[in-house]
Amino acid sequence: MTQTRSVPLLLTINAGSSSLKFALYEAAEPLADACFRGAIRQIGDAPYFDLLQSPDGAATSWKIDASTPEEAIAELMAWLGRHPYHPVILAAGHRVVHGGSTFDKPVLLNRKILQQLESLSPLAPLHMPHNLAGVKSLWQHLPDLPQVACFDTAFHWHMPPVEHEFAIPRSWRDLGIQRYGFHGLSYEYIAQVLPEYLGQKADGRIIVAHLGSGASLCALHRRRSIATTMSFTPLDGIPMATRPGQLDPGALLYLRQQGFDDKTISQGLNHESGLLGLSGISGDIRSLLTHSDPTAQLAVKYFVHHTHRAIGSLAAALGGLDALIFTAGIGENSAFIRQQLCEKGAWLGLELDPKANEQGQGRISPGHSIPSVWVIPTNEELMVARHTLHLTQELLLEQGTPT
Ligand code: ADP
Repeated sequence: MTQTRSVPLLLTINAGSSSLKFALYEAAEPLADACFRGAIRQIGDAPYFDLLQSPDGAATSWKIDASTPEEAIAELMAWLGRHPYHPVILAAGHRVVHGGSTFDKPVLLNRKILQQLESLSPLAPLHMPHNLAGVKSLWQHLPDLPQVACFDTAFHWHMPPVEHEFAIPRSWRDLGIQRYGFHGLSYEYIAQVLPEYLGQKADGRIIVAHLGSGASLCALHRRRSIATTMSFTPLDGIPMATRPGQLDPGALLYLRQQGFDDKTISQGLNHESGLLGLSGISGDIRSLLTHSDPTAQLAVKYFVHHTHRAIGSLAAALGGLDALIFTAGIGENSAFIRQQLCEKGAWLGLELDPKANEQGQGRISPGHSIPSVWVIPTNEELMVARHTLHLTQELLLEQGTPT
């Protein structure tokens, strides 16, 4: 039997180098959980369609042909076209990593804005070209579809000048070289749900540790970003799966003097550094934790040490600490890394309830301890869906066709 969903849907896209994650939400306030969620994985290398969630049942996956982001979008469109629910897409929202010094909030895309965003690609070469390829190829299939870009930088827009600026010559700063910060959609989501967990204390001095394969930390006060570890590009801050985190710029000058060209340096910084670079084994902490090899152990120690240092630095920026929040792949799933970080942070008053830490949900510190420590799952795609719904509603109102 053919079914049609009566409510039009919002499509969210997070297009990366080898995967394209998507979700579909009913376009009605308040947004409920996604009705469809999935990903096209291993694009260009044994690609497959991974349907994680749908209204009528179980997760399933199947092999496809997709060697580029454009072909991945074509696969997604073909799947939607033959789906028995005949989903009608009202608008699409994209996670776009860099908004540069122009975009302080989500924006409804047009060709001119897309061009502006393309000029920012060199600032986030791991992400931007893929993010924007998703927008362009969706327009090839649905030329009139409203599309919204939601920036990872926007949440940090109001950081104070001492956090925003670098101490470099004015003429360099005029080129837009400043601390932008990233993972903003994740921090914005956490800031929105914090009162459900912390009540009035949500407005206090909070550090959110977004620890995934890309990793950063953010200091929140009154639920706004006042400092963060990533800066001009997503390379800065703490060590990540394949990115080094903070690195003396003098090292790059030295590499140039040694004859390394830009492409090789960029490849090394984006794909061969971090946990992978240190261990020589893997950038995946889960895998490193199972290795007895000393280089694997050093990489894990290095990650914990520098994340702990970042917690100390952000606590200083906040003038104290009321709560520490763990989120993203490592933050939500690794009781061991959380335990290591809280043990090192005992000087800050960090303490864990070992059983709650093993369970890894909600408050994981004893009821009496301050700062409190929490695991809160992030939901960047829901943030994208919320922004997309709001901008689409505004557009439809302007056109005189309210939802
Ligand atoms: P990203 O969105 O930046 O790709 P994720 O937030 O999905 O990253 O996190 C991915 C990382 O989470 C993986 O590299 C892996 O190291 C880590 N991870 C996932 N589950 C676990 C676990 N149970 N224990 C330790 N690390 C984990």
